[in-house]
Amino acid sequence: MIENTSEEKLFCVFHPDRETLLRCSRCNRPICTSCARQTPTGYRCKECINAQQKVFETALWTDYLVASVIAVILAFIGSLAASFIRFFVILIAPIFGFLISEAVRWGVRKRRSKWLFLVSASATVVGSLPLFLSPLLSFLSGLFIHANIGSITALLPLIWQGLYTFLVASTVYYRLSGIQMNR
Ligand SMILES: [Zn+2]
Ligand SMILES: [Zn+2]
Repeated sequence: MIENTSEEKLFCVFHPDRETLLRCSRCNRPICTSCARQTPTGYRCKECINAQQKVFETALWTDYLVASVIAVILAFIGSLAASFIRFFVILIAPIFGFLISEAVRWGVRKRRSKWLFLVSASATVVGSLPLFLSPLLSFLSGLFIHANIGSITALLPLIWQGLYTFLVASTVYYRLSGIQMNR
C-alpha cells in the first residue's frame, strides 16, 4: 500500500484539532484562519509576526540606563535654573526638554526602542522632583504646622517648578515618541 502524502491533511500548529489549508509564509507551518495574520508578504503565524517585530527593537538594556541617567541629571540642572528664573521656565523648560531628548538620542546611538520615550520622560520627571518637593513641603508645613496664611506666597515657586516639570517632561515625551518610526 502506498500512502498519498500530497493529500495529507494539515492541522493548525496552535490548534491541533482544526484542519486548515493555510501555511505561514515564513516558517511554512500550517495555521488555521484564526491564527493567520495577513501581511504584505502573505499569511503569517503569530510567532513569526512577533519575531519580526523584535528585529525593529534594536535598543540594548543599557540604553534605558543611559537614557535615565542623562534625563535625571539634565532635568535636575534645569530645575535648578527654573528655581532662579521663575516665570521664564516657560522659555527654559522646552530648551531643557530639547537638550535631554538630543542627549538621549546621542546616548543610545540612535538605536530604536519602543519604550525609550516613556523611560526618558519618567526619568525627566524624577530628576525635576527634588526641587518641586522642597517648595511643596515648605508650603504644606507653613500652612498646616505654623498655620501661616502668609505661606501662600510659597505657592509661587511651587507653580514654577510644577510648570517646569510638566513642560520639560512633555517636551521629552513628544520629541522622543517618534524615535521608533523616524529612523
Ligand atoms: Zn510562522
Ligand atoms: Zn490556529
